[in-house]
Amino acid sequence: MTASVLECIGNTPLIRLKKASEETGCEIYGKAEFMNPGQSVKDRAGLFIIRDAERRGLLEPGGIVVEGTAGNTGIGLTVVAKALGYRTVIVIPETQSQEKKDALRVLGAELIEVPAVPYRNPNNYVKVSGRLAEQLAASSPHGAVWANQFDNVANREGHVATTAEEIWAQTGGKVDGFVAAVGTGGTLAGTAIGLKAKNADIKIALADPLGAALYSYYTTGEMKSEGSSITEGIGQGRITANLDGFTPDFAYQVPDAEALPIVFDLVQQEGLCLGGSSGINIAGAIRLARELGPGHTIVTVLCDYGTRYQSKLFNPEFLRSKDLPFPAWMEGTSTIAV
Ligand code: PMP
Repeated sequence: MTASVLECIGNTPLIRLKKASEETGCEIYGKAEFMNPGQSVKDRAGLFIIRDAERRGLLEPGGIVVEGTAGNTGIGLTVVAKALGYRTVIVIPETQSQEKKDALRVLGAELIEVPAVPYRNPNNYVKVSGRLAEQLAASSPHGAVWANQFDNVANREGHVATTAEEIWAQTGGKVDGFVAAVGTGGTLAGTAIGLKAKNADIKIALADPLGAALYSYYTTGEMKSEGSSITEGIGQGRITANLDGFTPDFAYQVPDAEALPIVFDLVQQEGLCLGGSSGINIAGAIRLARELGPGHTIVTVLCDYGTRYQSKLFNPEFLRSKDLPFPAWMEGTSTIAV
């Protein structure tokens, strides 16, 4: 029994990834973040950001939490906000999956869709949300606060306090590496800080999709990106406050063509239906396993559930339009006669 949905956030299981483990001779585990109430890793950030705003006296009953998000943070914030008596106003780039937008509407978020433009553009979704928060703070009877997930370190503090502690306890301290992609950097930097505080020898790796600039930054010092990815919620082009002071031990650039077959195999062979960023993470874990050699234990993050991307990641027409490979079963019709 729990007092509310808030107690259901975190304490997610570590699931052994069979094929990845067998192929590398390592033990590779995925932290099942899709089992959070909002079905993603971002419930943790939502909880910690709202609790932090409350502690600072920035939220009163009926107050509004405003955020710019690829979707999952909006979902996490809205789950938490509804449980605590707040409203959410969510600004989302229109390119994000319909399923995430639908989930936000079902949960009762007030959704504002904006064109997807780069961060340097003043009409970027993050900047629109910041301006909107200021306006609503002045005009709403119960005020408003900007969650500001990218530069609000309450986000990564949540991972220091929970994700890292849980991984340490679940592995009994027998963890050699941790790998994750970066959206805000909260998951990667927060978990890294927490794990390194336990054992400074734990290796931390960034798994970067194409189109992101951090792989280039951490390997050459130059913030440069090329290519693109159909994954959502990850791919960063600047050092956010959540990444500040953090450097990974290894950085990998993972193309979609390497990550997606992992996602497709996991559904069919291990019963795990995951979003695209989980594929980037697992591909990164496999690379770190090869780097460290057999016998090591590596943990990564299963960020969200695959049905959130049914119209894209599991849609042959969409994948074909992006020149991405997909397995025959995805197009197949039933072989059972009725
Ligand atoms: N995967 C998905 C699907 C996400 O929505 C996010 C968050 N934007 C991430 C990974 C990355 O998490 P973080 O913001 O903690 O870097």
